Amino acid sequence: MRNPAIAPYAARPEKSRGRLHREAPPRGRSEYQRDRDRIIHSTAFRRLEYKTQVFVNHEGDHFRTRLTHSLEVAQIARSVARSLRLDEDLTEAIALAHDLGHTPFGHTGQDALHACMRRHGGFEHNLQSLRVVDLLEQRYAAFDGLNLTFETREGILKHCSRQNARALGELGERFLKRRQPSLEAQIANLSDEIAYNNHDIDDGLRSGLLSLEHISGIRIFARHQALVLRQYPRLTGRRLINETVRRMIDTLVTDLIRTSAARIRKHAPTSIEEVRLASPLIAFSSRVRDECQELKRFLHQNLYRHYRVTRMSAKARRIVADLFDAFMTDTRLLPPEFQVRAEKNVARVIADYIAGMTDRYAILEHRRLFAIDET
Ligand code: MG
Repeated sequence: MRNPAIAPYAARPEKSRGRLHREAPPRGRSEYQRDRDRIIHSTAFRRLEYKTQVFVNHEGDHFRTRLTHSLEVAQIARSVARSLRLDEDLTEAIALAHDLGHTPFGHTGQDALHACMRRHGGFEHNLQSLRVVDLLEQRYAAFDGLNLTFETREGILKHCSRQNARALGELGERFLKRRQPSLEAQIANLSDEIAYNNHDIDDGLRSGLLSLEHISGIRIFARHQALVLRQYPRLTGRRLINETVRRMIDTLVTDLIRTSAARIRKHAPTSIEEVRLASPLIAFSSRVRDECQELKRFLHQNLYRHYRVTRMSAKARRIVADLFDAFMTDTRLLPPEFQVRAEKNVARVIADYIAGMTDRYAILEHRRLFAIDET
């Protein structure tokens, strides 16, 4: 099923470095389509619906969850991949899987779990995403995990410490040799950034934690808002925000495609191997990158550190720490399947259990363990 429209430097499913466990080739779909399909059918993927990054799941029905975030990333990544004649299915698979290892309660949850795991090898959501697809999903008779292709797994592992890279063999090699992953993986990575910067503005404004007046001081927002107001001078409220954000996304996607196409032309890679040896070829222009930096700083100071977010984060941190301590003290509190696994590496198994929880499940489990009137 060789697609002639695909560029020579694209990842080619028929030339995949393969899966950890040998399988017969798929019929009627490519290897990367099969990866994408397996991810969508996984339990961890369905849980993304009840996991959040900034807002906790019960705070409102219109905020992004990790599931809608992953779909937005996939949508952006596919557009970029198609424009650059890359493999859309691979970039989509990576985008849909990139957050599978996230703990409940977003970054706070991850930091809290990392603190609990400090003396047990730490916790890193990126590595956990790989653990989910390599090990934790239990669906197939012949192997643990989803048995995805090397290229999808390589894309999921965005960053990695040298110490962890050494333990990962072939997959960790690029971090030790400072090589790049496929262009499809690079696209999924930057599409993640486009998606969260824009939806955090949208969610921030929707929640009232950010004000339109305040964010209008940020260059990238200001220049797109000015474009909207030139065309619709009387526009206000949600429509003004939506028209501004959609123009920002368009600018970022267009800039990413244009800048990357120029870099690809300049380096002229003739294969994925040459892509891996080159500097990162998927990139924003320096102007857009600077503007994004400014926006990120703004979101850090005003949204992620807003006292209402901090208040929720403090609660989330306590929940994760309490759960971890309770299970470490008495592993009989774990569900039976985890008790069996906990005989080998207790702390890691507890981390797997907690990381797999959705926001609401973690809250419920905490109540079951600590509330006297709960059974
Ligand atoms: Mg993400």
